Order: sequence, then structure tokens, then C-alpha cells
Amino acid sequence: MAKSSSEPPWTAKIITLFPELFPGPLGCSIAGRALQENRWALETVDLRQFGIGKHRTVDDRPVGGGPGMVFKADVVASSLESTTESIPVESEKWPTVCLSPRGVPLRQQMIEGWSHARGMTLLCGRFEGIDERVIKHFELLEVSIGDFVLSGGEIAAYALIDAIVRLIPTVVGNQRSIEEESYTTDLLEYPQYTKPAIWRGMRVPDVLYSGNHAAIAKWRKMEAMSATRERRPDLWAAYQSRSLAADGPSASG
Ligand code: SAH
Repeated sequence: MAKSSSEPPWTAKIITLFPELFPGPLGCSIAGRALQENRWALETVDLRQFGIGKHRTVDDRPVGGGPGMVFKADVVASSLESTTESIPVESEKWPTVCLSPRGVPLRQQMIEGWSHARGMTLLCGRFEGIDERVIKHFELLEVSIGDFVLSGGEIAAYALIDAIVRLIPTVVGNQRSIEEESYTTDLLEYPQYTKPAIWRGMRVPDVLYSGNHAAIAKWRKMEAMSATRERRPDLWAAYQSRSLAADGPSASG
């Protein structure tokens, strides 16, 4: 849906101890140009400004012992409350996510849903993470970008924001390239080639030169299926059960 020019663009609000990391890679290429042209917006909130005392302390030792430091609940709460005040819409149109290796794994479907919101708030952890009570109190959705541990949520926020921004209709040039992509059609994408026809003895598959669109589409579908079967048994199993459900008799409706 086209937005009127008076409506603010999709906006990411990022709560971080390192605002200087933004826009970082989000300032490059297509996303960067769109950011400059105000087709999406980015605001950072410096967690340090909510710190306590002369040293603006934001963290403390973990209760129960163990290494590292934990963001204090009251500091994070103040930062979230200050951000919420300036959000123009109800919370369902403005999700708040906490980046965390303990979170639900990020999936393309979630990205698609969020791309229709008006914006979102992202809370980036550091050190050992964030006091659990603030996550519970604000009912933050914890999201993980993979089964590995980063040293901070900022790199995870880059990934999440980049994935959303490239779905915003005014940002993306070619909507079809998005629709065909890996993870949006349940299968990994087919392999891509460009000129020359032969490179280091390897040929581009002949069918791609055939001009026969049906044959090309069929070849790509087969390649997508075999790549998914070999590389991602989990996605393949989900794809197969969905295909079965779509083909099978709909007894219950
Ligand atoms: N002690 C924590 C790790 C904290 S890592 C644990 O073992 O669970 C510090 C911060 O980096 C986290 O608060 C989070 O914001 C971010 N982070 C680390 N790995 C991440 C991942 N896979 N996905 C999203 N955020 C991550």
C-alpha cells in the first residue's frame, strides 16, 4: 500500500550502549540510499544516558555469582519508557524486540510481519545480558539470529533491520526478486549464473539459454528442491508436509 508523503516512514528505534555503531552497514547500498531519502528511518537511544550516578552506571554483577556484568533493570526500563513515549501508534503496530541468544530463532515470516508495522524498537544487550525481570515486565519478545553467541545485540539488530528494510515496497526495486527468494517460497533458492557461458571449464546449464520459460521454471524448481533436500532436511520435511496437506483431501476444511 502506498503511503502518503506526510506519514512517517518505517522507523527502527535502537536502544544501545554503542549508538556510534549505527547506521554502520545499514548506511550502505540500497538500504543506505533509502535511509538518506527518508524512505525508512533510524533513531538510536543511548542507554548510557539512563545510567545511574556520576559514572552513569548501566550494569552490575550477576546475582548468584559468575563472570561478567548484567544490564540493570531500572536503567533498561527508563530507556524503554522514554522510547515508548515518542511512539506514535499502539504497541501492536510497533513491536519491541530484545536481541538475545535465548530468543526464538528469527525467521523470514517474522520479518515479513514486521515489515507491515509502522516501526519497531530493538533492545541490544551486551556483556552477560539483561536483568530477566525487565524482559518479563515489558513482555519483550526475545529474538535470536542463530545458535551462536555474539558479544552484543547490535550486529543482530543490523541483520534484522536489513531484512525488514529490503521488504519495504518503496525501498526495493524489484518486488519479484524478493518473492522468488530463499525462505519466502519454503525452498532454498535455485543456483544463479551470469555470463560468460563457460568459466574455468564449467558451463552454465543449457536450459537457461533455451528461452523456454516453462522449462527454465521447471529446472529451477527441481534445483531448489534438491538443494533444500540435501542442505536443509528440516525445511524439506516442512515443505513436504505442506505440499501433502495442499494436495490431500480437505475433510475437516
Ligand atoms: N550470557 C549470554 C550471552 C550474552 S551475549 C548467554 O549465554 O545467553 C551479549 C548480548 O549479545 C546479548 O544480550 C544479546 O543482545 C546479543 N546476542 C548474542 N548472541 C546473539 C544471538 N545469537 N542473537 C541475538 N542477539 C545475540
